[in-house]
Amino acid sequence: MLWDELLPSSIMREGDIITYATDVGLYIDAEIVRVTCPICLEEFIGSKREAGIFITGHSSYHEFVEERAEYYGGI
Ligand SMILES: [Zn+2]
Repeated sequence: MLWDELLPSSIMREGDIITYATDVGLYIDAEIVRVTCPICLEEFIGSKREAGIFITGHSSYHEFVEERAEYYGGI
């Protein structure tokens, strides 16, 4: 299945400025950014807040995997 089939063509793009509401509040003039994980090169496009969560999540994940690999004698 192609990416285009999964998402509508109106999907947010890097550089867009959007205002959106969530359960916890209203995000006004949020800039859409694109970030790449330096370890696995996975990419994310979204608000800076979500991009931060993406980077932090990947960071924790890769650190965890590396620690486990060391513990079990890998790497
Ligand atoms: Zn990653």
